[in-house]
Amino acid sequence: MSAPLHVEVIQKRQSRASKEYIKEIVHSYLTNFVSLTPGASIGSHEFEDNVELKENVQCITFCDVEHESEVAMTECELLYHIYTLDNYGAETDTMTDAASGEELAAADVWALPTEEFHGLWESLVYDSKLKEDTLRFVETAFEFADRGVDPNVIAWNRVVLLHGPPGTGKTSLCRALAQKLAIRLGDRFPRARLLEINAHGLFSKWFSESGKLVAKLFDRIREIVEDRRLLACILVDEVESLAHARRAALAGLEPSDSIRAVNAILTQLDRLKRHPNALVLTTSNVTGAIDVAFVDRADIKRRVGPPSERAAYEILRGCCAELMARGVVAPREQLFALRVLEAARFADTEGSRASLALWAAARASAAAGSSGRALRRLPFLARALHTRGEPSLAEFIDALLAALQQQLTDTR
Ligand code: ADP
Repeated sequence: MSAPLHVEVIQKRQSRASKEYIKEIVHSYLTNFVSLTPGASIGSHEFEDNVELKENVQCITFCDVEHESEVAMTECELLYHIYTLDNYGAETDTMTDAASGEELAAADVWALPTEEFHGLWESLVYDSKLKEDTLRFVETAFEFADRGVDPNVIAWNRVVLLHGPPGTGKTSLCRALAQKLAIRLGDRFPRARLLEINAHGLFSKWFSESGKLVAKLFDRIREIVEDRRLLACILVDEVESLAHARRAALAGLEPSDSIRAVNAILTQLDRLKRHPNALVLTTSNVTGAIDVAFVDRADIKRRVGPPSERAAYEILRGCCAELMARGVVAPREQLFALRVLEAARFADTEGSRASLALWAAARASAAAGSSGRALRRLPFLARALHTRGEPSLAEFIDALLAALQQQLTDTR
């Protein structure tokens, strides 16, 4: 028996059926299949005359990277995760500086899984097993916490640090990871929240009461974390800004109150590690050592770089597929997955021409070190500035190359 295949099932919000029932109807539907394709989704419009599924299920997705190609139904264990998507969006916790009356967004709070992050995990493409490794690490950390493993005997904590250049998907990956955990650990944690602390904002200007604001913010976080059946993911973006603020304060460039506030944040975050249901996610655009001890000790520390040519190809292929599906680029044509091109040794045939042109564009963008963010912007620029009317796929790929050239000249 190979590794289990995760079957993620989104239950419709209006459905009142139990999870057990949903699992049963999905399972009996899937027994009609000979094999399942990891990464594939089945939407409710595809359920045809299966009324029970249509009424209760929005979408079924098969996820796992252990299986790269199709898996026979008889050969794999299916692990079901049934959930509904929250559609309320983020709630912003604002605080007011008593002296100036200025309002500050201290944190954004999402109930997970949320509609906003649906598909985010799948949209992030990395050449390495970055996503899967990070997910495994965190799942293991929760398993240890669950079993009461003594962190003094085996060193582990639930602090993740993703570092690397801007625009490489670090924040998105943290959000996607929180969403994925909320789905995968749904049995252990029936509720989940993501709290994004606006650390940069808290210290970007002089707030006479920063210390009090931090205390208030963590009172609220503690309230959330006290519910042991709730998974609390706390995201601190650009964590190096805390270290900067501290250094500036020490050099006398910032009022000493702010150093107290920064230290308070760091101590509070450090304390959160004690809660078995809390996960601290941090990102940093600085790659060297970060002068923040608790992050430095994080045992899940990964560097995130710009997409390789392979990842760039898959990102651009996804963008082209989306534009063809929406009729912006027409007619619909096939773009091969990279492994298909490789298997054919990049042979130039009528059918592979567009894919090869896209591969050339991906290589050019990777050679230029374009970030994931820059890549995702490219199709928009190509359409806006380098095509007219309804471009064919070949014309659109030419436009992508032109947009890339322009992006490179503009940033030089
Ligand atoms: P960072 O936090 O590293 O600055 P973000 O998470 O804000 O980056 O990412 C910016 C945008 O770029 C997002 O829309 C994200 O989807 C996209 N992006 C970045 N890297 C990748 C990647 N490897 N694969 C797919 N999309 C990416």
